[in-house]
Amino acid sequence: MTEGSKPPIRNLEETDRTSNLLSGALDGNASVLRPLIVVILIYVIQLFAVLGFTAMSRDKAVAANENARVEAFLDAHLDEASTTLNAVAPIFAELAITRHESQPYDIPAHLLDALSQRHLASQAFLFSPSGDALAQEAIPSERPGVTDQEIRSRIRSMASISNYTETAVSDIVNIGGEVFLLSTRAIPCSGFTMPCSVASVGHLDETIASQMEDFWQVSSFGVSTIEPTGKSTEFAPIQNLSNETIGWFHWKSRHQGPTVLNTIMPWLSLLTTGVLIMCWLVWRRGLKISAQVLQSQQEAKHSALHDPLTGLANRTLMNARLEEALNQLGRQDKGFALHIIDLDRFKNVNDTLGHQAGDELIQEAAARLTSVCRNGDTVARLGGDEFAIIQLGVANPSSAARLSRRAIEQLANVYQIANSDVFISGSIGVAIAETNESSIQELVRQADIALYRAKGAGRNQFCFFEKEMDSALQERSAIEKDLRIALENNELTVAFQPQVSADGLHIRGMEALVRWNHETRGVVPPSVFVPVAEETGLIRQLGAFVMRSSFSTARKWPDITMAVNVSAGELHHQDYASSVIALAREMGVQTDQIELEITETVLLENSNRVTRTIKALKAAGFRIALDDFGTGYSSLSYLRRHQVDKLKIDQSFVSSIGVREDAGAVVQAIIHLGEALGLSVTAEGVETETQRAALKARGCAYLQGYLFSRPIREDQIPDLIRMFDQRGKKRGAA
Ligand code: C2E
Ligand code: CA
Ligand code: CA
Repeated sequence: MTEGSKPPIRNLEETDRTSNLLSGALDGNASVLRPLIVVILIYVIQLFAVLGFTAMSRDKAVAANENARVEAFLDAHLDEASTTLNAVAPIFAELAITRHESQPYDIPAHLLDALSQRHLASQAFLFSPSGDALAQEAIPSERPGVTDQEIRSRIRSMASISNYTETAVSDIVNIGGEVFLLSTRAIPCSGFTMPCSVASVGHLDETIASQMEDFWQVSSFGVSTIEPTGKSTEFAPIQNLSNETIGWFHWKSRHQGPTVLNTIMPWLSLLTTGVLIMCWLVWRRGLKISAQVLQSQQEAKHSALHDPLTGLANRTLMNARLEEALNQLGRQDKGFALHIIDLDRFKNVNDTLGHQAGDELIQEAAARLTSVCRNGDTVARLGGDEFAIIQLGVANPSSAARLSRRAIEQLANVYQIANSDVFISGSIGVAIAETNESSIQELVRQADIALYRAKGAGRNQFCFFEKEMDSALQERSAIEKDLRIALENNELTVAFQPQVSADGLHIRGMEALVRWNHETRGVVPPSVFVPVAEETGLIRQLGAFVMRSSFSTARKWPDITMAVNVSAGELHHQDYASSVIALAREMGVQTDQIELEITETVLLENSNRVTRTIKALKAAGFRIALDDFGTGYSSLSYLRRHQVDKLKIDQSFVSSIGVREDAGAVVQAIIHLGEALGLSVTAEGVETETQRAALKARGCAYLQGYLFSRPIREDQIPDLIRMFDQRGKKRGAA
């Protein structure tokens, strides 16, 4: 098959259905991708949330860290204060020694400077054991200082003083609502039995704050004796050595969350954009792939449902459409028709012109069938040369008949194939579905039966299914069953009918005719069971039986020609000729005594095998008679090609002699034809003397019919011969 030779076949509604399917599947694809994208978006949102949360906990961690640092700072500061005081204590001791008892003296400025720088002290005091302030000095400041009384009352309780240890102790104190850092220690003083004490005091104020801000990178650092509130403020308690809270440091934490977010945000945005672009690409690719998948699915589906040669629906799709049509039946008042179409004698085209030509013819036939259908109808190829049409909206049988008729006309037109004109025809069986009670199988069966009937009635026609056909079919299968048994049990017999000379006096030959007397059916005529045998293949067995019987009879009367009927089905068998030749040899029959009667239609088939078989039989010496001549497409070329020896004028012409005017002319034409081709001619079914005389007058050489004898049993042949002999002698004497 070539692509170019494909017929333009309408794809009845196919495109619509396909596009619907396609869009449906694309929706399906989107419904798969959509959740995917949503999942990715949720993922991105989660990422943001996690980052935000991380930033916030980072803030908390920073705050906690700041807290710890502030505490550490305070501890360090207290230590530093003590250390400094220890360091300067000897100088104070000297001061105490050189003091003037009555008037306090100045603490040298450099000493105070050292104290101030080292631990932010702004004032220093030297107390006698009795608590008199021997000296005191202050760095000039805008803030009011503390008085020696206030300091004295505080340092009394401090460990180094109460225990007279010469180590500085520092603590936090609240004096007048302000927080101070106070260091003190005992120092030995000459001139006093008890040690003196020295103290330095510093105000925990903005100076510290600025140090903290710079050093710890916090802002709004401050000290308060009232507990700070407010969410944005971090604070840490300032506790003295007895763990009493004296005040609070408070500051604004340097929140890192926003910084973190600010750093990450561009990257995150970039990442998100990337993810979204990827989503989009995946989506697009998904759409593309699914469209491709869909297309190949569609193609696979198409080839699963269509015949590759013609592009028509195949049996599967036809069944689906039938199902659909049956389901629709209840809903509308119109029925539908199923036409099953079989090309007549298509096999010949294949045999004579080759398969390529056969394919072309099938394609052309498919196109022609499609051309007679309406949109919405389904044209299917069921295989080989069998087609079907589902015709929708059939209101009455006449519209189905119209379609069938058009199809038959179309099929019968000449086909231009392989550079030659080819003629074939089609037979159609039609079943009409009007109620949805019917089933697909039943419809197909009905159409098949009708097709069978159309073929039986001579092909090139259509036939509607009728209920009676069913019973006829059942009868046929019953006959088939019985015939099989009859063949096995040797219940068949052969009768012989003489063929006589035109004057009716001499037996020239015999025709062997099969007989079946069934025990319950009675006599079954060959016209009933021979076709059944032909269809079921039993004809080979039947033919072999008749051949053997007639050979056996022929051997007994070697001077009488024996005519044996041969069916088309037998001639189609490859080994037919050899088996008949072998049988003749086996039975010792001269082949030229045997005349094989074949019908015109066998020759019309133009089958190579049949031609070969006939040729082989002819070559072996058998003679060929053309039976029922005149009923088919009598063609000169067939007669020539097959070297036929005899024509048998069909009895329909003989019985018309004297009844129909033209009958005589036809008979005459056949006789002339025989003469012209050098063939002998036998007239069948001669029943009356008038017919005999007319045939004789027209030059017909041999006659056969009830006028001379009905078919008789073999054992009756001697009597018949005797009778003819006597008749002959009588005539001769007369
Ligand atoms: P056919 O070959 O044309 O056989 C002639 C038929 O005409 C026979 O019918 C015969 O009985 C009948 N006949 C003979 N003379 C007259 C007559 O004067 N008037 C009428 N009305 N009929 C006459 P039969 O035996 O019923 O056979 C019918 C057909 O069955 C045969 O037609 C032949 O085609 C087929 N047939 C019979 N025997 C065989 C057989 O052994 N093999 C095959 N393949 N076909 C057979
Ligand atoms: Ca015959
Ligand atoms: Ca005949």
